[in-house]
Amino acid sequence: MRVLISGASVAGPALAYWLTRYGFDVTVVERAPALRKAGGHAVDLFRPAMDIAERMGVLDRIHAMKTGTQRLTVYTEGHDRPVEVELRKVMAGVSDRHAEIMRDDLSEIFHDATRDDAEYVFDDSITAISGDGEVTFERGPARRFDLVVGADGLHSNVRRLVFGPESGFSAWIGAYLAVASVPNFLGLDARVEGLTGVGRMTAMYGAAHLPDARALFMFRPARPLDYHYRDVPRQKELLREHFAGFGWHAPRLLAELDATPAFYFDSVTQLRLDSWSRGRVTLVGDAGYCPGPAVGGSTSLAVVGAYVLAGELAAAGGDPVRAFPAYEAELGAYVRRSRAFAVSAAGKLVPGSGAALWALRGAMGLVGRLPAGLTRAVSKLGARGVRLHDEIVLKDYAAHEVRTATRP
Ligand SMILES: Cc1cc2nc3c(=O)[nH]c(=O)nc-3n(C[C@H](O)[C@H](O)[C@H](O)COP(=O)(O)OP(=O)(O)OC[C@H]3O[C@@H](n4cnc5c(N)ncnc54)[C@H](O)[C@@H]3O)c2cc1C
Repeated sequence: MRVLISGASVAGPALAYWLTRYGFDVTVVERAPALRKAGGHAVDLFRPAMDIAERMGVLDRIHAMKTGTQRLTVYTEGHDRPVEVELRKVMAGVSDRHAEIMRDDLSEIFHDATRDDAEYVFDDSITAISGDGEVTFERGPARRFDLVVGADGLHSNVRRLVFGPESGFSAWIGAYLAVASVPNFLGLDARVEGLTGVGRMTAMYGAAHLPDARALFMFRPARPLDYHYRDVPRQKELLREHFAGFGWHAPRLLAELDATPAFYFDSVTQLRLDSWSRGRVTLVGDAGYCPGPAVGGSTSLAVVGAYVLAGELAAAGGDPVRAFPAYEAELGAYVRRSRAFAVSAAGKLVPGSGAALWALRGAMGLVGRLPAGLTRAVSKLGARGVRLHDEIVLKDYAAHEVRTATRP
């Protein structure tokens, strides 16, 4: 049975891995000319995604490429002294098993685990998917597939072709996000440093194996902004407007925007499709159910989604009529909880008022003073939804495997 996957970042290669392990014939088409290597940002793998990575035989490589972030140094506007937070304590409250890794490193690890078993076609994109399975491409010849999966991110091409324009399914959750590669002028290694104020925050982080650092900007304007997604000069201008007069190293980071080799700007948007499958086409990862970039743990959701989709297809003998509803049912609660968590996290990361900023500073200070075990216990009792990832129970599809773990 032939499956075409659009997108070779996280969800695409993870899905390719599990499908080939169940005996499917897999092709992955990626619009970029090669795997992305520059820019990118850190992502989180929580317990279920770590468990899946272990079953894939790639856990050692993930550990070897971790960012190693240990500490957050957070200044809040109006206070000279920062709050120091040990990341280990925060993460102990969220998950028992966690790794932070650059998205491009994770993508490379998943790609390496699949490249001998799946066909990868770079520098191409799907232009049409017909009801009988014929797929046409921008560059390559038309081909026939039994199933097509969109793993092509928040602004998915497959979703647009099959479900219609994005505006029908997306909701702005009140914030904008930008990431730029900048020189590591603070010498940050294993540490995030930043400033939070009312309606805006900026931070910078590095990792031992990164030659440069990443600057992160998040802000909440009163209403949606007017810009084109390809108009990078306008996006940089918007950042400069919204961060004018902001303290800490914000002026230096804004000055670096002119020379940055990699720049990302987007609204923090949540997808709200009730169903993400139609006929022989389905969606996985951000393409189908992005709870919001940087606020909803969407990388773990993408890895779990890929594992469940492949497992349900294997269990149904490749029949989408049975497999797709089972995939959506299995993942539905996780998706809904991630959406709710993301809306609340977006509000907390960028406080909307002086009182909310004060509460954030207090909460961070508290985490800084509590021992790790107590932080874990408090999060289990209190903040609802914080441990949403660890509460996921993975179904076992091992009976359908036709081959076992990957070579290291
Ligand atoms: C700034 C930022 C910060 C983030 N921080 C975090 C975090 O801290 N923790 C966390 O867990 N997650 C975070 N995320 C989210 C995380 O990056 C995504 O959830 C994860 O990458 C989803 O993987 P994916 O494979 O579904 O989609 P993506 O990683 O978006 O990959 C989509 C792939 O599809 C390809 N593609 C696009 N269009 C086409 C086309 N027409 N044809 C073929 N291929 C196409 C793209 O080139 C890309 O390779 C962050 C995201 C952003 C943007």
